[in-house]
Amino acid sequence: SAGPADLPPEVWEKVKDHPCYAEEAHHYFARMHVAVAPACNIQCHYCNRKYDCANESRPGVVSERLTPEQALRKVVAVASEVPQLSVLGIAGPGDAVYDWRHTKATFDQVREAIPDLRLCLSTNGLALPDHVDEIAAMGIDHVTITINMVDPEIGAKIYPWIFFNHQRLTGIEASRVLHERQMLGLDMLVARGVLVKVNSVMIPGINDEHLVEVNRVVTAKGAFLHNVMPLISDPAHGTHFGLTGQRGPSAAELKALQDKLQGGAKLMRHCRQCRADAVGLLGEDRGQEFTLDRLPEEVS
Ligand code: SF4
Ligand code: SF4
Repeated sequence: SAGPADLPPEVWEKVKDHPCYAEEAHHYFARMHVAVAPACNIQCHYCNRKYDCANESRPGVVSERLTPEQALRKVVAVASEVPQLSVLGIAGPGDAVYDWRHTKATFDQVREAIPDLRLCLSTNGLALPDHVDEIAAMGIDHVTITINMVDPEIGAKIYPWIFFNHQRLTGIEASRVLHERQMLGLDMLVARGVLVKVNSVMIPGINDEHLVEVNRVVTAKGAFLHNVMPLISDPAHGTHFGLTGQRGPSAAELKALQDKLQGGAKLMRHCRQCRADAVGLLGEDRGQEFTLDRLPEEVS
């Protein structure tokens, strides 16, 4: 994984305390997510809207939705009790860039209260090009885009519809627009020096082999990390919307794909698919210690 020896100093500066971007950092630095962005502009077949955005999180639990003001209270409370806190991320429960009003209000308030906290967000990319300039201007230097395909024919099996320019698009057309917007957003972020992590959800029989091509394309465009995540089907919570009976990959299948991808963009292998309200070091979740009813009333 990335270390000071193989990165330009200005890039190392941005990743050295981010537990997801620098693997060494995940033992020493903590992240928190606040679930302030409920709205989403696309439908992934694997999404179950009752839970957090499956592009970043394990399905199965709904996060406590916060207003930007409540999120600020929570961040301030966590920062005072978790000294390793270095990153605040917004990863849903819907799409952090489509739901830009909530995301921006949260980041603006937190920036004012705790100026040195790193800001990070994840998105499906559809609305991304509209906000890249603001993202860069706000000093958000880590963005995750979920890219599951670079071929709209495959996309049509993953995305039944998108909502774009006040219209609902379906089929190949929906996936073509989503693909073009993801590629444009990626190019625009890279051009502005924002570090981009690409998440891909591995769906056996649908995009598993194709992810080699996705890796090639996003690497060529300058993605900093590629994180292949397994589709997690959870029979306890019913099948995923539109993917009845779809299984997730086995650990061996996931590893075989990751091994094939070595040599492209740096692969992230330590992602924990954290919840949209996770708190703490990767691998621990102290979110339950900081639920709304436990927060102090006022931020002084
Ligand atoms: Fe669900 Fe996330 Fe896909 Fe939106 S982007 S449909 S919230 S998995
Ligand atoms: Fe980092 Fe993965 Fe957790 Fe996101 S889901 S905070 S990338 S470990």
